[in-house]
Amino acid sequence: MTHTAYSITPVKPAAHLFRVTCRVDSPDPGGQQFRLPNWIPGSYMIRDFSRHIVTIDARDERGDVALHKIDKSRWRAEPAQGELVVEYEVYAWDLSVRASHLDTTHGYFNGTSVFLLPGGRESSPCELTIVTPTDPACEDWRVATSMRAIAVDANGFGDYRADNYEDLVDHPVEMGTFERHVFTACGVEHQLVLSGRYSTDAARICADLGKICEHHIRFFGEPAPFDRYVFLVTVVGNGYGGLEHRFSTSLLVSRDSLPVKGESGIGDEYLEFLGLCSHEYFHAWNVKRIRPLRLARATLDREAHTSLLWAFEGITSYYDDLALVRCGLITPKRYLKLLSKIITRVAQAPGRKVQTIADSSFDAWTKFYKQDENAPNSIVSYYAKGTLVALALDLRMRESTGGEKCLDDLMRILWHRHGVGCGIDEPDIEATACEIAGTDLESFFELAVRGVDELPLASLLPQVGVGLKWRRSAAEVHGDSSDNAIGTTPLSQGMRLKFDAGLAQITHVTNASAAQRAGLSAGDTLLAIDSLRASEKSLPGILRRHCVGDTVAVSAFRRDELMAFEMVLSAAQNDTAELLIDDENHSLLAYWLSDEIA
Ligand code: ZN
Repeated sequence: MTHTAYSITPVKPAAHLFRVTCRVDSPDPGGQQFRLPNWIPGSYMIRDFSRHIVTIDARDERGDVALHKIDKSRWRAEPAQGELVVEYEVYAWDLSVRASHLDTTHGYFNGTSVFLLPGGRESSPCELTIVTPTDPACEDWRVATSMRAIAVDANGFGDYRADNYEDLVDHPVEMGTFERHVFTACGVEHQLVLSGRYSTDAARICADLGKICEHHIRFFGEPAPFDRYVFLVTVVGNGYGGLEHRFSTSLLVSRDSLPVKGESGIGDEYLEFLGLCSHEYFHAWNVKRIRPLRLARATLDREAHTSLLWAFEGITSYYDDLALVRCGLITPKRYLKLLSKIITRVAQAPGRKVQTIADSSFDAWTKFYKQDENAPNSIVSYYAKGTLVALALDLRMRESTGGEKCLDDLMRILWHRHGVGCGIDEPDIEATACEIAGTDLESFFELAVRGVDELPLASLLPQVGVGLKWRRSAAEVHGDSSDNAIGTTPLSQGMRLKFDAGLAQITHVTNASAAQRAGLSAGDTLLAIDSLRASEKSLPGILRRHCVGDTVAVSAFRRDELMAFEMVLSAAQNDTAELLIDDENHSLLAYWLSDEIA
């Protein structure tokens, strides 16, 4: 059987270079092709990882073999004799969960950034040797990854094995002087690997993660579909991101999101961290194993379009926080506050009126992942609105079955039917939901997934004893957004502002807002309102002294041209949601929020 053997060496950490070899035992006699993926599963954007290949050569047992570039990410070697070896250097300086990064403090890579795929070898087993670096800066380095180790030294350098190329690139690798903590959930060993500069209570994180992991495993049913799982966490001053894999997740988080030693209670930032971990772990089922066919068939060279990201990201986003209340980490009240924020976020973005979440899913590559200044007007988030659609579907299923069935049942049936091997086609989720609910949900999905009208949350929530109230908000992005902070003239007036070196930059202007009617635009630098300098500190005070309907003079720079505008101040919208428990004794409230698996 053919196989592909790779090696990777953090060869010049100060220059951010990995050296990689790819050995093909019996290359295509007509000339072996190689290609590097242009995107990484889970992150729907063309990233052209091949641009970071700095040098590349090929050789066989006779010597050098010519390599011809076919396109941006493909090569063809001249016919070779015996084993063909391609050797190349990859520049790694992207500190995100999607690519690779190497310096004298650590190395990190995703296989999609560094491992060439020989043509026709998609299904061949892969061997990987992670070579111990010789640079003195890397002296104490160890390796952390969920990839199956075959023969490694005490630090984890050595030989690993993957079933095929897809498996090879699904195990990100961290190397450095990280801390590793081990905990068990439902009998499965989990690792928490923390790298970067931080000080935290790792034992507490493990205890909290353990509860979340047990929740998710029991939610879908024991045994867990993996025999090991690794949380690879990179801690930085300011960062946020996660990417799901079948046996691990890569997370990039802010130092302040980790719990302080000796402190109890869950602050908002730590809550966000736990929510992110919960999200990526839920993906180990929903999207990594219950897979949309269109993504499962993707060849990673060009975009793969599916209308189902709302389900894979939205349902996952719904359960990430719901699991926290179900496993007792937060109270129902705190959970409802998190949910209220999502309802508010969706309500405040006019893009929900022009784009459906099915379309947002399909066009993720060019819209959601390439957001510009017009994004709030033109795009709906399949994460945020997807969460609300999942909630609405959950409630709708409870309603039509008298509380007997819910979204949990849908997820478990999808898991049993599609968890191993058989991917999910575009109509499958809706059809299965109708089957479980015992009713035709076509009109629900038309509205929620393929429509832009408001979701019927206000009428659905009371059946679990929860009421939805709307209140007026200032709809601003910085500072206080409480009810009466600035009277009835919201600070934003439809402008989102970024304060940079004392200057107020308009980053977004929402459609049909006072700012847009006045002629202001994203990119303008706001100089003065009402003849007073516009600053982060002054703006609320200036606006508080005006009433709805007042006209104020605004001056701003557009590029380097000074412009004058007249803005008629508008009232704050009723777009801030508040969820309150109306009926504590409602029979379905505990069923919804408790961890009793029906
Ligand atoms: Zn996700």
